[in-house]
Amino acid sequence: MKTIGLIGGMSWESSAEYYRLLNQGVRDRRGPTASARCLLWSFDFSEIERLQHDGDWDGLTARMVDAARRLEGAGADVLLICTNTMHRMAPAIEAAVAVPLLHIADPTAAAIKAAGLTTVGLLGTAFTMEQDFYRGRLTERHGLEVVIPEADDRATVHRIIYDELVAGIVSPTSRAAYRGVIARLVAAGAQAIILGCTEIMLLVRAEDSVVPLFDTTALHAQAAVTAALD
Ligand code: GLU
Repeated sequence: MKTIGLIGGMSWESSAEYYRLLNQGVRDRRGPTASARCLLWSFDFSEIERLQHDGDWDGLTARMVDAARRLEGAGADVLLICTNTMHRMAPAIEAAVAVPLLHIADPTAAAIKAAGLTTVGLLGTAFTMEQDFYRGRLTERHGLEVVIPEADDRATVHRIIYDELVAGIVSPTSRAAYRGVIARLVAAGAQAIILGCTEIMLLVRAEDSVVPLFDTTALHAQAAVTAALD
């Protein structure tokens, strides 16, 4: 079994979910006592969040590259960035280490295409919804059409992630708000919705949407189990 290196703590709410999913996935494939060989570098998210909102992407890149090198040095065979947003630094990490990085958008796009779908709504932080590093990969590399929420809805989705989900707060009011955003994305042509923030799965479930949901946390963890065992 290969050793999976997790760059996590962004937030720890979703890293805990990654840890559970990786271990469950290995148990399902290898038997009841089998578990994932893994290493976790867990950031203090309050520092990461401040740098993100200050727009200090160079400072963030330095921290992410340092984490990737530590995991590689400790024996990781494959790396995961346990957040969609911080995939903005994926190219810098790939350039800094020799071990492969499993990009979160790739297994997500593969699952969408395997379902025969081409137009997807994207929910995530404002960075993920608005910048090109994530949408660009979905459109250019995978040929998907990506629809994002209108500005007001983007602000709501972003605020709920940073004010509530990363703090472990799951509220019915926010779930209703997300249901509304999803319905408007479907009205705008989305055939499926990408839960493009690793905490959204804490809030939104299949019953909150009339179209299929693609949960990046689960799809990423599943791809890592495959990479570790095959
Ligand atoms: N976990 C979230 C994501 O998948 C947001 C936290 C972050 O900004 O890293 O984008």
